[in-house]
Amino acid sequence: MDAQSGPVGSEAFGRFFLPGPTEVRPEVLASQARPMIGHRGAAIQELMGEIQVGLRSVFRTERPVLVSSSSATGFMEAGIRNGAPRKVLSLVNGAFSERFAEIAEACGVEVDRIEVPWGRAPDPHALADALRAGSYDAVTVVHSETSTGVLNPIEDFASVVAKFPGTFLLVDSVTGVGGAPVHTDEWGLDFVLTGSQKALALPPGLAFAVASEALMERSTTMTGKGVYFDLVAFARNLEKLQTPNTPAVSLLYALREQLAHIEAETMEARWARHARMAQRTGEWVDAMASDRGIPLRVLAPVGFRSPTVTCVELPEGVRGPSVVASMRDRGWTIGGGYGKLKEETIRIGHMGDHTVEELDDLLGELTEVLS
Ligand SMILES: *Cc1c(COP(=O)(O)O)cnc(C)c1O
Repeated sequence: MDAQSGPVGSEAFGRFFLPGPTEVRPEVLASQARPMIGHRGAAIQELMGEIQVGLRSVFRTERPVLVSSSSATGFMEAGIRNGAPRKVLSLVNGAFSERFAEIAEACGVEVDRIEVPWGRAPDPHALADALRAGSYDAVTVVHSETSTGVLNPIEDFASVVAKFPGTFLLVDSVTGVGGAPVHTDEWGLDFVLTGSQKALALPPGLAFAVASEALMERSTTMTGKGVYFDLVAFARNLEKLQTPNTPAVSLLYALREQLAHIEAETMEARWARHARMAQRTGEWVDAMASDRGIPLRVLAPVGFRSPTVTCVELPEGVRGPSVVASMRDRGWTIGGGYGKLKEETIRIGHMGDHTVEELDDLLGELTEVLS
């Protein structure tokens, strides 16, 4: 993707490093400008059929990938309403994992939390201890904590939860899927969801999820799950390559276009590209400290760093919002610190379709701002 591939608003392409929504290729944006089709009929079935093939490859699953015209939060709520009648255990290590716990509470479910400081990952042993001590319908966890840049060891959590029949692992992989490896079937994830506007580099407005057979069985017994996020309705309609209600057709066009790009790149190459971008960001942080005496620090420890987002701690006296503003003045967008980390951190969303070369340009600009 070159800088000439098209202006986005007044800005050149390749300068938008928000950790969601992420930059969308001009040709993906353009693919939305097509005539509408009805949502009951051959045209939508063909579109949904093509999309299924691509999405199953993205999620590494043989199961149907449910498609919702909502933001990702909708499917977080669906995970609770369809999978957890009574009580959940929430692993909380940042703003989005806390939000998952709060969604469960808002759905009237009892919530116990395992909380670890922001910037750390919960320990699978602590999870095993808690599951032995209590009885839970589900465990909620965020794969890539977008507020801190921590990547949680989902595969390890899944093998712990698998030892407790009747307890499901519900995974928010909103900044994981499409950027960090996710092997839904191999890891035995009961419910894993993402949104369109993060590592999949689509416009906001769609959510995707895979539910295990066991979770779908429980969903048939759940009362009070409402209408819009009834996963049984999603699954039943998907058998006919349709959706329960009118889907965001324009976004489905964009999805089909983007899935073709992803297939051409391959998931393995996509994961590797994201890993390189995170690696490069970490190296830049270290070099700023060692070569220039500017003590930056990556918040997440080595081994637990998300390939899609890096949260960088700033030196004493340097304020996050002013760094973000200086970058904006130069025509670049990065993320501010999230919630209580707003003042002392910045976040770089190196996800979606960005390249290491574009990232290098961003880091060069950031070096000037911080020097
Ligand atoms: C962005 C994000 C969400 C919320 O997604 P919406 O599409 O705004 O509902 C949830 N979890 C994580 C980890 C996120 O990064």
